[in-house]
Amino acid sequence: MISRPSLGIRGRAAAYVMRAALGAVTRVVTTERVVALTFDDGPHAEFTPRLLSILHRHGARATFFMVGTAAARHPELVRLVAAQGHAVGNHSWDHPSFPLIASGERRAQLRACAAALAPYGRRLFRPPYGHLDLASRLDTFRARHEVIGWSFGGEDWLDHDPDWMVDRLVERIQPGTIVVLHDALYHVLDEKYADRSPLLAAVDTVLGRFGKTFRFVSLPELFQAGRVHRRRSFSQPDVDFLNALQPSVGAPRRYPSGVLPMRVSGTE
Ligand SMILES: [Zn+2]
Repeated sequence: MISRPSLGIRGRAAAYVMRAALGAVTRVVTTERVVALTFDDGPHAEFTPRLLSILHRHGARATFFMVGTAAARHPELVRLVAAQGHAVGNHSWDHPSFPLIASGERRAQLRACAAALAPYGRRLFRPPYGHLDLASRLDTFRARHEVIGWSFGGEDWLDHDPDWMVDRLVERIQPGTIVVLHDALYHVLDEKYADRSPLLAAVDTVLGRFGKTFRFVSLPELFQAGRVHRRRSFSQPDVDFLNALQPSVGAPRRYPSGVLPMRVSGTE
């Protein structure tokens, strides 16, 4: 007689497959002392070259999730980032909240950004604002992009001083963590937050302090160091907040308010 797996096992297996297929990578399980710094919303004419020289001075590599419109304005910076050994990832064409736009536009956003990053872009996607629901995750899956979340961030879109950010990063950096930071801000909540100098100072200090004990690597290098961990927990779009945002370049996007899309829920 052939034994059959119980529904419980099947249920657990299905849950595992769903998480593996639909979750966002938030860290790598490893004993190696490796960390992936990621920088979103660039490239920026002033701050990206300054960041590159800091990374170079410390022998650190990182991953840059670029917005297509910015990459198209600065192809020389896309080339320079890749030439210095950093990974380049897709952060959409012009930074919409993916659950709030139609499937066709999501796929067009991924394609247009990938074209602006070619031939340097990896198939890595960081959702703007970290917003992702089931339908938009499936669109990224069909576009063969891995979705990258983060372990923690530097809260560097506000006006924290470098010491505050250094303390926050130093407390949280562990083997396999993925850190979200910004070498530009697509949306500026206040003009005084646009200056990336405090963040650059914080990165310089952290790299100096951890340079002997951790290796700062790109995401493809981090993935080589252990087992990727995915998590299905995404923040809910706040339409009123998004509608109040002003992009640093171009016209603001306005989303219809009303019924929010169902989000992918659950924790690890
Ligand atoms: Zn962003």
